[in-house]
Amino acid sequence: MRGSPRRGASKLVELCALPLVIAAATPAHVGHGQPAIQQKLPRWLMRLFSRYEHIVMRSIDYLATRDWIYANDSVRRWVTRLSELVMKTVNGEVLTLAEAREMVAGAFDEGILVAAGTCPCRRARNVISDSEPNNTDMVFGKWAAEYLENYPGLYQELGRQEALDLVEDFDRHGYLHQVYGFFSREGAAFVLCNCAPDICIPLQAQKRRGFQSFRKGRALAAVDEAACLGLDECGVCLTRCPFDARLAAGPKGAADADACFGCGVCVSTCRGSATRLERKPGAQLVYARRLVQ
Ligand code: SF4
Ligand code: SF4
Repeated sequence: MRGSPRRGASKLVELCALPLVIAAATPAHVGHGQPAIQQKLPRWLMRLFSRYEHIVMRSIDYLATRDWIYANDSVRRWVTRLSELVMKTVNGEVLTLAEAREMVAGAFDEGILVAAGTCPCRRARNVISDSEPNNTDMVFGKWAAEYLENYPGLYQELGRQEALDLVEDFDRHGYLHQVYGFFSREGAAFVLCNCAPDICIPLQAQKRRGFQSFRKGRALAAVDEAACLGLDECGVCLTRCPFDARLAAGPKGAADADACFGCGVCVSTCRGSATRLERKPGAQLVYARRLVQ
C-alpha cells in the first residue's frame, strides 16, 4: 500500500536529515587545540561528507528549485526546517580577494596542506566548463587529505604561489570567495570556495529561497559618484555583483549597503576605479579569523 505524499515527504526529510543530526550530535569533537584551523570532526564524518558532497549539493539544488515544494505549506515547512538544520551545521562566510589571499598564505605559513579540485556544485550539476576555471574548490588540512584520497586525479595538492595565483585568477573571473566550516566555530575552516555565481548551489538557494548559506563578510562596497563613468558608458557593476546589490543612483552606479555581502567582486572591474571596499566597524570573521588579520 502506498503512503500519502505528506508521509513520503516527511520520510524523505528524515532520511536527508539523518547524517546532519548525527553531525549535530558531535559538536564536542569540533573543538580546540590547533592554532590556525580546527578540523576535529570525526574522520568517518569527514570521509562521508567529502566523498558525497556533490550528492548533498544535488539534494539542496533539488529542494531549492522545485516550486511544488513551496506551493505546499506542510512540505515547505519541512524543507525550511531541514535547510535551517543544514545551514546551522555547515555554512560559509564571504571573504574579499585580499582576505582570501591572506588565508591561503597563512595556511602555507602554518604548514597546512592545501589542495584544489573540481567544484562540487559543478559535479552535482554536471556542468564542466571549457572556458571557465572548474577546479575552484580549495581545501585545507585533513579535509584536503580526504579529497586527495577520495578523488585522486580530480584534486591536486597546490604549492604556495600556485594557490595564490589561482585565487587571483578566480577573482578575475568574478568568482566569489567564501570559506566554509562547521557549527560556526572559530577557526573551523575546511574549504575556500571560489564560486561561479551562476553555478554555486548555496548562492542560488540563498537568493531563490532565503536559505542562509553564508554570512556577510567584513566589508561593504562604497562608490565615489564623481569617479563613476556613468551607467550609459559603463554599467559593468550592475551585472558583476553576485548578490544583486549594485543599482542605479540616477545616471551613476551605486551599492545597496543592506544587500552587499562585501565580496569585492565589483571592485576590480569598476572601469572608473570608483568602487572601493570599506571595513565595517567591529565586523569579525569566524572561520578564517585565525588566518586573516
Ligand atoms: S556590491 Fe560589490 S562587494 Fe557588495 S556584494 Fe555586490 S559585488 Fe560584492
Ligand atoms: S563599474 Fe564603476 S565606473 Fe562603471 S558604472 Fe559601475 S561604479 Fe560606475
